[in-house]
Amino acid sequence: MTSAMSTPTQTIPSYLQADKLGPWGIYLQQVDRVVPYLGHLARWEETLRRPKRALIVDVPIQLDNGTVAHFEGYRVQHNTSRGPGKGGVRFHQDVTLSEVMALSAWMSIKNAAVNVPFGGAKGGIRVDPKTLSLGELERMTRRYTSEIGIIIGPTKDIPAPDVNTNEQIMAWMMDTYSMNEGSTNTGVVTGKPVDLGGSLGRRDATGRGVYTVGVEAAQHIGLDISRARVAIQGFGNVGGVAGRLFAEAGARIVAVQDHGGTIYQASGLDVPALLAHVASRGTVAGFEAAEVIEDDKFWEVDCDILIPAALEQQITATNAGRIKARLVIEGANGPTTPEADDILTDKGILVLPDVIANAGGVTVSYFEWVQDFSSFFWSEDEINARLVRIMKEAFAGIWQVAQDNKVTLRTATFIVACKRILHARELRGLYP
Ligand code: NAD
Repeated sequence: MTSAMSTPTQTIPSYLQADKLGPWGIYLQQVDRVVPYLGHLARWEETLRRPKRALIVDVPIQLDNGTVAHFEGYRVQHNTSRGPGKGGVRFHQDVTLSEVMALSAWMSIKNAAVNVPFGGAKGGIRVDPKTLSLGELERMTRRYTSEIGIIIGPTKDIPAPDVNTNEQIMAWMMDTYSMNEGSTNTGVVTGKPVDLGGSLGRRDATGRGVYTVGVEAAQHIGLDISRARVAIQGFGNVGGVAGRLFAEAGARIVAVQDHGGTIYQASGLDVPALLAHVASRGTVAGFEAAEVIEDDKFWEVDCDILIPAALEQQITATNAGRIKARLVIEGANGPTTPEADDILTDKGILVLPDVIANAGGVTVSYFEWVQDFSSFFWSEDEINARLVRIMKEAFAGIWQVAQDNKVTLRTATFIVACKRILHARELRGLYP
C-alpha cells in the first residue's frame, strides 16, 4: 500500500437523488428522523437509503387492433436481509421508479414492524389499465411477470395485489411463473383466489388490522369506540371493511368520501346499506339516507377518528389544521405529508401510521405463503385470531418505544423496524 492511495469515495447513484417532495424523498426524511435512535446499528444506515435491487423492464404487447404497445414496468427489492422481498404490484398511469422505490422501502418497514420474515419489495407498470381490454390486460400481466421472473420466486420475492391489481391478475402471474418454471408454484404470489392457494380472511385482512390497532390506540387515549364518531376517506377494500367493523363495535360512521363524492350523516350512516349501495353503484354518491357535502368540507367534519383509506398525500399542510379528530388511522399508504404530520402532532392528534395500521394485509399474505408451502389450509377463525394477536403485539411494542423515547408512533415504528432490519444486516455481514 502506498501513501498516494486515496480512500475510495462513495457516490450517490443518480436514481437516488430524488426530489425532496416525491415519495422517495419523503421516505428519506423519515429515515433521517430515525437515525439518532439506532445506536451502534447507525453504522448500517446507508442500507436503508439504497434499494438492494431495482429492475426496469420493457413490457411489449400486441393490442387487439394489431399494433404493438410498450409499457414501462418496475420491480424494486428494497431490502431482503430478513427474508424474501414482499410487496404488491400497482398498475397506474402515474407509477414512477421513485414511487415504487418508496413503496418497496415502506414494505421493508411494515414487514419488520409486524415481525413477519420478509424483506420489502414493490412493483408496478406505468399504465392506465382501464384503457386495456381483458385480453390486453392478461397479455401485459403475463409479459411483465416473465420479465421480472429473473428476480421473483417463492423464496426470492413474492408479489401481491395493490392499486388496480386483483385476484385474477395474481392468478395470471402465478400461472406465468409456473409455466416458465415447469411446475406449479402457488407460493410465488399472494392475494390469489381461494381456489388457487389463496387464504381465507385475506380480503378483509387490511381493514381488520386497521380496526384492531385503531381500537388499541383509542384505549390509550381514553376514547370509547362504542361512542366514537368516525370519518372515512375511501370505502373500498380497506375503508369499507374498517367502516363495517367500527360500526359493528357501536361507532357512528358520520362521513364517507370516495372518488364520487362525500356524504354525511350526524347520527351515523347505515353501513350495511352503504356497502350494498357501493357494491351495486361503485361509489357512495347517490346514497339517499345521507346529506351530500362539499369534498373539501370532509376534512373539517366533527369526528373522533379519521381514517384516510384511499390515496397518497391526502392530508396536507392545507387541510391538516382543520382536522378535528383525536385519532388518525392511516389505512392508505403515505396519506399524510411530513408537514401535515407535524401539524397533526402539534395539535395533539394521535397518528397511527400506515406502516403499522395497514400491515394486516401483508400479515395474512404471510399466512397464505406459509399455507401454500405446507399445502395445509387454516380456518378463517384461526387466521383472524393469529392476525389480531400479531397486530396487538406489534402495536404494544411500538407504543412502548414511543413512550420511552418521546417520539411519534411513526418514528417509533421506524425505530422498531429499522433496528430489526439492520440487526439482521449486521448478523449476516457483508458478502464477500
Ligand atoms: P380500493 O380500490 O378497494 O378502494 C379505494 C377507495 O378510494 C375507493 O373507495 C375509491 O373510490 C376511493 N378513492 C379513489 N380516488 C379517490 C379520491 N380522489 N378521493 C377520495 N376517494 C378516492 O383500494 P384499497 O385496496 O382499499 O386501497 C386503499 C389504500 O390502502 C391504498 O393506498 C392502498 O395502497 C392501501 N393499502 C391497501 C391494502 C389492501 O390489502 N387492499 C393493504 C395495504 C395498503
